[in-house]
Amino acid sequence: MTAASPGPAGDPRRRIPRTDDLLALPELLEARARLSGPVLRSLVGEVQARARRGELPPEDVRPALLAALEDRSATSLRPVLNATGVVVHTNLGRAPLSAAAVAALVAASGYVDVELDLATGQRARRGAGTREALLAAVPGGVPADLDALVVTNGAAALVLATTALAGDGELVVSRGELVEIGAGFRLPDLIASTGTRLREVGTTNRTHRSDYAAAIGPETAGLLKVHPSNFRVDGFTSAVPVEHLRSLADEHEAEHGRALPLIVDVGSGLITADPALPDEPDLTGALEGGADVVIASGDKLFGGPQAGILLGRAETIRTLARHPLARAMRADKLTLAALEATLAGGPTPVSRALHADPARLHERAERLGAAVGAPVVPHEGRVGGGGAPGVPLAGWAVSLPEDLALLLRTGRPAVLPRVHDGACLVDLRCIPEPDDGRLAEAVRAALARLDSSDRGGG
Ligand SMILES: *Cc1c(COP(=O)(O)O)cnc(C)c1O
Repeated sequence: MTAASPGPAGDPRRRIPRTDDLLALPELLEARARLSGPVLRSLVGEVQARARRGELPPEDVRPALLAALEDRSATSLRPVLNATGVVVHTNLGRAPLSAAAVAALVAASGYVDVELDLATGQRARRGAGTREALLAAVPGGVPADLDALVVTNGAAALVLATTALAGDGELVVSRGELVEIGAGFRLPDLIASTGTRLREVGTTNRTHRSDYAAAIGPETAGLLKVHPSNFRVDGFTSAVPVEHLRSLADEHEAEHGRALPLIVDVGSGLITADPALPDEPDLTGALEGGADVVIASGDKLFGGPQAGILLGRAETIRTLARHPLARAMRADKLTLAALEATLAGGPTPVSRALHADPARLHERAERLGAAVGAPVVPHEGRVGGGGAPGVPLAGWAVSLPEDLALLLRTGRPAVLPRVHDGACLVDLRCIPEPDDGRLAEAVRAALARLDSSDRGGG
């Protein structure tokens, strides 16, 4: 490397290596395969700026740049070890993918036959394999002409179903089911945004079949049932099961010769009932109850990528697939690949975390506690992500000083603990067991930093 021209004695800034010289380092030339020119330039610029500010001696510019290069990847998203005990954590991207889904994502990242029949060379139905996996996952063939459609997310699926089936007519819905799904987004606003009107019936805590019956009239274009997935109304409550809404719609059709589509949004995406979550509705149950179409998210309890899953009668699904909005919500090849593999592959991380053996969790927590010299306390995990509100998942956590939380979050790997009651709690439920060693290392490193900053400050 050419040295910078010697400057006046006493100004070390003259010795800061030049941009072109730094960019010509073999390590930087090699990094051009994984990082763009502008990114490399900005890394160089940041390190030079530190040296200009006197934070770094000029001799250290090169090693600091190589360290920064090591640390920089093409994505700014940092993998996080989820030590909160919250299984479907929206701020952490909801469901982590199974190994099979990850492999499918990688396989689908190049050219793939997502919409092509290789045998004939002709265009084929998009995502046919994903559709078949979804149909095969629903036991018992209900209804007999079951079909499926995948869109970008649950909210899109709901807008598509309500818009395509009800248009600017009225959808009858219970007042107890008009939910806000997070970040200020409310399902009633979402549905109304395309012109569909909601006819609210019943009260917050109780709605009866007769409430729906009284509201049905010439303006009624369908019935909507939404699972209030992120809160629970306890006590004097009652809701109308899907079966009763089906019989209402059937009676209306028999009397007036006009079918009323029954749309059911189950939210979390359990395919079949899970005894661990007794109050959580499932897709199969809603179809058996007579829904024309059921809606669920792909990345909640389903355990897959972000997607909106629509399952229902073939004719209903056809109507949805042909609506112009369907094209604006089309699932990409990566989603289709990961969704299929979520069904066809081994157990999902969500399912593992949900059904983790408490005794095993205890053993792992004890091992971590012993490794870092901290006590183990009982700790209840949560389903999270707008599913099974209030259902505790019995488990354990290692209890650490509250001040450790920031150090864990900003460490490598990043660890998100739960801060509660003045303690930093590390729950192993959502940590894949092979990561226990990395987690222990991260906690030890954070404790060492806490210790040195305590000594530094005191
Ligand atoms: C989560 C949820 C949605 C929204 O689904 P996204 O996949 O987040 O778009 C809609 N309805 C219900 C009942 C939900 O729980």
